[in-house]
Amino acid sequence: MSYKEILEKVETQLEGEAHLDELASKQQDPFKILISTILSARTRDTNTKIATEKLFKKYNSPKLIAEAELEVLEQLIKSSGFYKVKAARIKEVSNVLINNYNSTVPDDYEALVNLPGVGSKTANCVLVYAFKIPAIPVDTHVHRISNRLDWVKTKNPLQTEVALKKSIPKEYWSKINRLFVRFGQQICLPIRPKCEICVITDICPKDFSMELARKKKKE
Ligand code: SF4
Repeated sequence: MSYKEILEKVETQLEGEAHLDELASKQQDPFKILISTILSARTRDTNTKIATEKLFKKYNSPKLIAEAELEVLEQLIKSSGFYKVKAARIKEVSNVLINNYNSTVPDDYEALVNLPGVGSKTANCVLVYAFKIPAIPVDTHVHRISNRLDWVKTKNPLQTEVALKKSIPKEYWSKINRLFVRFGQQICLPIRPKCEICVITDICPKDFSMELARKKKKE
């Protein structure tokens, strides 16, 4: 089965819309997408959504966030977890955007990863969801599922990104994060994946060596 067919099949089994997809389809404000992606670290989509909406109701530009009281920012984004670190981070990023990019979000990978605290995944999310530039944001779901499917044999998300880009045609890059994040939350779960109801169970090699190696290391 081709990459295209697998991705199409996976899409038929997904429910709801990912938070970033929802944001991108509504207004595509690159600043909101960047900030929301920073807030999404280590939390659920629902928490990110609440924090983003609360924050942007009050402060919706780099200038407003840069000038806001840190404690107020912390309270607004509290639902996203790690709110002290994240509040300081979004203030810092806003200042850099004001000083170096005329208060706009750059549509360039190198510029994005040079923003404070912005890593490869966040930069790629901004490219895909804010600017519709082909990229593969690799989070824990994309990394895990790509290994289970034997699309890659990698040890970390950065390696996965490089390997996927080598083997997958560019026209499908942007679909991978959009689909696999929800697929990883709903079907191909980190623990006890629902292989018995999975739409690609017939073709999936179910390579769990990554998890087994991790388990062995722990023992
Ligand atoms: S068959 Fe199982 S391991 Fe393979 S993609 Fe589906 S849920 Fe994941």
